Amino acid sequence: MKLAYLRNVTTLQLDADGCTGCQICTHVCPHRVFSMENRKARIVDRESCMECGACARNCPASAITVRSGVG
Ligand code: SF4
Ligand code: SF4
Repeated sequence: MKLAYLRNVTTLQLDADGCTGCQICTHVCPHRVFSMENRKARIVDRESCMECGACARNCPASAITVRSGVG
């Protein structure tokens, strides 16, 4: 039951200023963590992130960072 709390410590970070609005992250994320808003990506479900790293690897603007492969 405490797992729900531990999952809040995801390392996912989004730099909205660097985002070009390409929408790739909304397509590659298997957990729908991102949503587009005013042509920018926004983290709408941070707790669902399991740090797979797909978004950061595919973002052409390097606007997403996540420490994948840990924990
Ligand atoms: S992949 Fe990067 S540039 Fe494209 S919408 Fe997502 S955060 Fe923005
Ligand atoms: S690391 Fe994986 S689960 Fe987390 S936001 Fe990126 S694509 Fe989604």
